Amino acid sequence: MMENKIYDLLILGSGPAGMGAAIYAVRAGLEAAVVDRSPVSGGQVLNTYEVDNYLGLPGLSGGDLSDRFREHANQLGVEFITADVQGIVEEQARYAIQTDKGNLTAKTVILATGASHSMLGVPGEKELAGMGVSYCATCDGAFYRKSTVAVVGGGDAAVEDAIFLAGICQKVYLIHRRDQLRAADSLQKKLLSLENVEIIWDSEVKAILGSEEVEGVELYHNKSSEHSRRNVNGVFVAVGVVPATNAFQGFVEMDEKGYIIADETCATSREGIFAAGDIRKKPMRQIVTAVADGANAVHSAQEYLNTKKN
Ligand code: NAP
Repeated sequence: MMENKIYDLLILGSGPAGMGAAIYAVRAGLEAAVVDRSPVSGGQVLNTYEVDNYLGLPGLSGGDLSDRFREHANQLGVEFITADVQGIVEEQARYAIQTDKGNLTAKTVILATGASHSMLGVPGEKELAGMGVSYCATCDGAFYRKSTVAVVGGGDAAVEDAIFLAGICQKVYLIHRRDQLRAADSLQKKLLSLENVEIIWDSEVKAILGSEEVEGVELYHNKSSEHSRRNVNGVFVAVGVVPATNAFQGFVEMDEKGYIIADETCATSREGIFAAGDIRKKPMRQIVTAVADGANAVHSAQEYLNTKKN
């Protein structure tokens, strides 16, 4: 950590938005660095077993795609700092990034800390986390070979998880609270072609059952009001994400869910601070839109630096 150094730009987060920003920043000749609490960059992409919608690189695993991003950044000489960002304060037209390893100073900052998984919030979820309750099918799926598991959710993540687990497990229940999935059509088609996946519609998980390990789920059918139980060995929760913006509360404007309000230029309510990727309030959160945000944010940061002449 170079505590006395003043960076032109610090990029917080090393997912696709942060990595996209990093390569644009270095190519623009900015004195920039990427700060992330993990030395392994990637963010949520690391939890994706196959990325099939990133232009030019079909069929790579999330891990492989992240490695490619990292290699690209390394080739261009991007500086990476491993530290946990805890807050930012403005001090005399500079921004002090407070981390667990000390302060870093920059003239502009791109917030790109992404999002993390939501919890179901039902009895048994916390108690059985790591003992059958998981939020990452690609990380933990292999533990459930030939078992029966449940995936909860109806978005891209849940359907992708169910498809992935169907290749490992004997039986997969996809439990969704409505009678329609919100996942992309291509994923839905793939899911419906799998014989060992059963979709349980209009159903909510009321509790995850078990003492030492997951033994089942208690379900509530919200149309018939009936309660039932399914015996499963694992529960994969994929019910959306929450933005990782706690460290920036009160510093920039956010919506009621904690997403940072910023337009296409990625400019936030505070001059010199930009938001890129999944932490930004926007309609479509994809790898490609995160990478694009990274590029736009650097362009805006450069314009800001030029007008400030600092
Ligand atoms: P999402 O799109 O927000 O979907 C969350 C799902 O969980 C919804 O089906 C929602 O139900 C359900 N849900 C939410 N809270 C629930 C609760 N308390 N109990 C039961 N069900 C609940 O989240 P995501 O699937 O994690 O995706 C997040 C973003 O990443 C999206 O923009 C997605 O497109 C993107 N993504 C893309 C890919 C890809 O393109 N390959 C892969 C993964 C993620 P309702 O439908 O009833 O609201």
